[in-house]
Amino acid sequence: MKNTFHQNTQLLGLIGHPIKQSFSPFIHNITSEILGLEYIYLPFDVPQSNLRNALKGMVALGIKGFSVTIPHKESIITHLSDVSDEANIIGSVNTVVNDMGKLVGYNTDVYGILETLNPFKDEINGAEVSVIGSGGAARAAIYCLIRYFKPSGINIINRTEQRAESLKTYFSSKMKYDEIKTYELFPPDLLTVFQSSKLIINATSIGMMPEIDNTVINLPNAFYKGQIVFDMVYNPTKTQLLKLAESEGALALNGINMLVYQAAKSYELWTGVEMPIEEISRALEQFIAE
Ligand code: NAP
Repeated sequence: MKNTFHQNTQLLGLIGHPIKQSFSPFIHNITSEILGLEYIYLPFDVPQSNLRNALKGMVALGIKGFSVTIPHKESIITHLSDVSDEANIIGSVNTVVNDMGKLVGYNTDVYGILETLNPFKDEINGAEVSVIGSGGAARAAIYCLIRYFKPSGINIINRTEQRAESLKTYFSSKMKYDEIKTYELFPPDLLTVFQSSKLIINATSIGMMPEIDNTVINLPNAFYKGQIVFDMVYNPTKTQLLKLAESEGALALNGINMLVYQAAKSYELWTGVEMPIEEISRALEQFIAE
């Protein structure tokens, strides 16, 4: 990065724990460099016990905005002055804007999911879909599916089935959507569930670097031609899940688009400027491959 910081340089950042694996500093700093804007984006490793103090520090230092990652996405909400309607329904914030000392929370993961799946809107509309996971990313996916894609039914599959059950109750109450079934993540029993799903989303970290040989579904004949399989994992860019899905004719989507689009929305909220999406996606894929 060029050493061009001076009195006009504004600060952006990321809070989470751990944060070493994050690609957000790369994405946001290269964006500012390409656009010639005077922002610098720094990662701050903040454990749960330090969240309140870190937020006070953000305001005191006049940090323009920041990303939020595990483990703060849900617990941060009670510390914010305001939260967007979407983030409020999802119950998870991944972006905060410092609006003259008031911290306002947003969820831009939804935008990343929407942009990734929008080309398949007609196929998903009225079809059965499956979401594996019950954490923040799964919540954003379920919200996005109900709000924008109107599937006929959603299967929520999770290691801890109780968490999937809680989501079923939550979305039935918050969004009046009653077409959710839940399952424990135990693949042999799930073959027919996968086979009847037009779209399967992996919203767990299974298959992510360094455990790249793990896969959330390892069943022959779980996939079919014309099915869409979206793995939110972005490193590696082709997970075992996507390799298997592709070998059986399904369309495989990785988490890169989601990552770049959610970052683009956050960048726009902080700076008012659009991210050059295609250029950043290409740069990121190259960065990951190195
Ligand atoms: P989270 O809130 O911690 O939730 C993790 C989920 O994964 C839970 O449902 C958990 O099941 C399940 N899980 C974790 N390890 C597992 C294992 N070994 N076996 C079975 N299930 C396991 O995390 P999150 O924020 O939702 O993120 C989930 C994934 O999405 C991560 O890989 C993250 O990198 C990815 N993501 C990608 C983007 C993007 O832009 N591409 C954005 C956000 C997130 P239990 O409930 O049983 O614990």
